[in-house]
Amino acid sequence: MRVTNIQYRSIEELENNFKIKDLDAQKSLIQIFSGFVKEDEVKKIQSIIKDKSHNIPFIGTTTSGEIFEGNSFENTIDISIMEFENSTVKQGYFADEDDYKMGQHIATSLFGDNTKAMILFIEGLQTNGNDVLDGISSVDSSIPVAGGLAGDNGYIVKTFIFDANGVYSRGSVAASLNSDRLNVFTQYQLNWQAIGKTMTVTKVEKNRLYEIDGLNASEIYKKYLGEKIGDDLPFSATEFPLLKIEDDGLEVCRVISHKFDDGSLLTVGNLEVGDKVRLAFGNVDLILSDTQNNIKKYHSFQPEVIYIYSCAGRRVFLQSEISMELNPFNKIAPNIGFFTYGEIYHNEKDDRNSLLSMSMTILALSEQDNTKKYFDKDFQNEDSEKNFNTNKHFLVLEALTHLSNTVISELEEARKQLKEQANRDYLTGLYNRRYFNEIAQELIYISKREKKPLSVIMLDIDKFKKINDTYGHSTGDDVIKVLSNTIIETGRESDVVSRYGGEEFALLLPFTDTKGAYNLAEKIRKNVENKKIITHDGQIIRFTISLGVASVSKKDKSIEQSLNRADEALYDAKNSGRNRVVLH
Ligand code: GH3
Ligand code: MG
Ligand code: MG
Repeated sequence: MRVTNIQYRSIEELENNFKIKDLDAQKSLIQIFSGFVKEDEVKKIQSIIKDKSHNIPFIGTTTSGEIFEGNSFENTIDISIMEFENSTVKQGYFADEDDYKMGQHIATSLFGDNTKAMILFIEGLQTNGNDVLDGISSVDSSIPVAGGLAGDNGYIVKTFIFDANGVYSRGSVAASLNSDRLNVFTQYQLNWQAIGKTMTVTKVEKNRLYEIDGLNASEIYKKYLGEKIGDDLPFSATEFPLLKIEDDGLEVCRVISHKFDDGSLLTVGNLEVGDKVRLAFGNVDLILSDTQNNIKKYHSFQPEVIYIYSCAGRRVFLQSEISMELNPFNKIAPNIGFFTYGEIYHNEKDDRNSLLSMSMTILALSEQDNTKKYFDKDFQNEDSEKNFNTNKHFLVLEALTHLSNTVISELEEARKQLKEQANRDYLTGLYNRRYFNEIAQELIYISKREKKPLSVIMLDIDKFKKINDTYGHSTGDDVIKVLSNTIIETGRESDVVSRYGGEEFALLLPFTDTKGAYNLAEKIRKNVENKKIITHDGQIIRFTISLGVASVSKKDKSIEQSLNRADEALYDAKNSGRNRVVLH
């Protein structure tokens, strides 16, 4: 393929200098990124290109800044002309009323058997880009879609997209690249750093977020980041967006574009009830160092051209440092693109197109034979050695983030331990009666559903009062501990063992019928009978237990009913001489 990227500083310059040879219209595509965003300007640009492009399909978008040769610009017209050797281009404009249907329409019109990728520019303010992508994915989610939502230099008034047939203030323009040879590589970089605990979205309607963790969305900002940040929404959310953590680990930024009077927030991109989110902040060091790491990846693909669709908010946040993020691309391939109001990323791992915010997405293309490519070990990236951690403020930020995240994980660990402790008996570490009953209820449910047997054993130390009286209460405690260990050693891992009362234990045996339960009870009895406890003054104590076995019958509504039968059996064991197992 041949790629020519050109930048014009003014419409006059475009008019005077733009010229292209007669290319094969089937195999060529022109992308235009226009930093001129007023309707009459866009119309002028569109008509110039139309006049001079010899019917080569083109798709254009207004921007919130342009990317050209590793730098960011404003108020320029940036044009990329691709001429493929073996790929054909199919282009269209779509303006269905319903955004999801628009997506379906785009896919059914432009996707073919050998479509390798699609470039898509969506009007940036009224169209729900998420719905468009969902519509596309409903037809085919495996084809990478790249591009983004049109910008208007941050005015948030009107964005435009255009093609040879016109300039549009709604809908989408798209072009599919069809080929047996085209290699496509997609990537995204976000690196906003999560801070604070993971929270759950509890009330949301698409992109209007009402509640997180049951609290008003703006209140969450105030609670965790302070009144100032909370009051400064939606502007403060550029630095502190919400990070949505997807199942596959993909971190998706949800930037807030508007705060309603009721405290609910408008997000760029949809959320759903149950989504896990964290607050995040932009960490410039992290952003820049990750670029360095990724450059190797991009290089190994050996692209012939790289299209960069980066978020307008990212540019606002990074300011002059945006060039440090973009510069390294010059080492790899010609690169061009624009700053969007939402960028599209295709995740190859799970074949999904997502609308992102605050991130930089990359579409790298090559028609060269992939088999000839290999990772170039000699590729040295001088900048990768650079230490970006020179800015003191960011070191402080780094430390505070670390502190906050560590405190949270410690608190969560402590809470887990507390909960665990509340379920256990202090002396033996076995489950206590309350927790045993809780698990029992669940196991009864499972055993009924799976039609698998479930049995219980109740056991009690024989003449324990006498042991206490003879050797003292503390030795009595030791006996209880020895018994607890003996039960654990004898049983299976899946057995649920609890200290049900003072010297009374209950066992729940999943997937075990009465016979199996009886055998285990008998084993425990024997093992206890053979145990010797030597007191600190050398006396040998032996003790025995009595056991009652019952199985959980289909008729049992609660565990108590089954345990009562085991208890009756235990009572019988006591009455018939102790140190024995009775089956009920
Ligand atoms: P039986 O064979 O009929 O079960 O006789 P027993 O003496 O064991 O009678 P019972 O089960 O009624 O007695 C339980 C005794 O266990 C009463 C109580 O003092 C003692 N005990 C209960 N909990 C503990 C404990 O945590 N530590 C100690 N050392 N003793 C306890
Ligand atoms: Mg007892
Ligand atoms: Mg007893």
